[in-house]
Amino acid sequence: MKEKATVALVRCENYNQEEVLVAVEKGLTLIGGVGQFAKKGEKILIKPNILVGDNPDRCVSPHPLVFKAIANAFKNVGANLSYGDSPGFGNPRGNARKAGFQEIADEMEIPFADFENAVTLSNPDGKLVNKFEIAQGVADSDGLVSISKLKTHALTRITGAIKNQFGCIPGPRKAEFHSVLPNALQFSKMLVDLNLLLKPRLYIMDGIMAMEGNGPRNGNPRAMNVLLFSTDPVALDSVVCKLVDLNPKLVETLVVGEEFGLGTAHDINIVGDPVEDFINLDFDVNRSPASTTTSTSFLSTGFMRRYSAPRPTIKPEVCTSCGTCVKVCPAEPKALTWADENHKKPPIYDYAKCIRCYCCQEMCPENAIFVKIPLLGKIIHR
Ligand code: SF4
Ligand code: SF4
Repeated sequence: MKEKATVALVRCENYNQEEVLVAVEKGLTLIGGVGQFAKKGEKILIKPNILVGDNPDRCVSPHPLVFKAIANAFKNVGANLSYGDSPGFGNPRGNARKAGFQEIADEMEIPFADFENAVTLSNPDGKLVNKFEIAQGVADSDGLVSISKLKTHALTRITGAIKNQFGCIPGPRKAEFHSVLPNALQFSKMLVDLNLLLKPRLYIMDGIMAMEGNGPRNGNPRAMNVLLFSTDPVALDSVVCKLVDLNPKLVETLVVGEEFGLGTAHDINIVGDPVEDFINLDFDVNRSPASTTTSTSFLSTGFMRRYSAPRPTIKPEVCTSCGTCVKVCPAEPKALTWADENHKKPPIYDYAKCIRCYCCQEMCPENAIFVKIPLLGKIIHR
């Protein structure tokens, strides 16, 4: 009989260095000990989700002290460590520095891996994508340790253990996937294929301070007081759904993850602190049955698409006209353009061209973009 997936939950109520260290060691012990995941001399790449170089207080990335505690455990078994991520926008090293990782990595003599150059890896078992361009630093490692943040996401509702590996694809290559896979289901199939190719040895999630609301960059910090550990990303993200009272059937990465054999959303053995202690029924996450994209057939064209599909929307009073949203929009031609020659007014959307990838909402530095479900969309999906 197939063994159940194990997810370990460990209480940790703040980012005090000693407390985080103890909690990480406890979690690693609960899932079998760090020695299971690395041997002396093996090249282990630690990959925190560094979406962008924001201050740790904003809860966009796992806290650098969680990274430090995990790196410490792997150093103790003699692993040869590197770290890195490819952010949604900008330079990988610069973002790692601004998000607080570089200082710790330098202290611990952990080099930043090559996240600029790519190598093509074939993925013969991929159900949707049979080759990926992967960061050279990831390809050069013997094993990957994935550190995600418990937070919301406009396209995939939560961004967790499975989605973190998207940052193993360097720079602009990520945007190409958004333009060729313009709905949550297709995008999730790609993410699951990517995980099946990379097979991280261990998934750890920082949920000590989570992000709710307008994630993954502009939501509000929310204390969840928990660290999660698993070798099964589907199981880990499913437990997160339980913690935030989100139906896992609405999370396409979990539905596809089970279907493609990446893991289980059902046969889960939760160990450590009681799961009931961490459930927050009022966590602000999108629980609407309405698709986050335009994937359903008759809603995907013409009038219905225009008047029922969720859409990114700019709050003009908050927008600083920085232009990030225009730069990151992967649609061709762009679905966001400047309203005036001098770029003083907020950009404007052409929703007929918009593929609902929400990269603009994700990367806006000012929390000026939110996702609005038109009234017709709310009525249809009631
Ligand atoms: S990214 Fe945000 S602040 Fe910058 S132009 Fe777009 S909406 Fe305005
Ligand atoms: S306007 Fe925003 S949601 Fe639409 S395609 Fe461009 S980045 Fe994606």
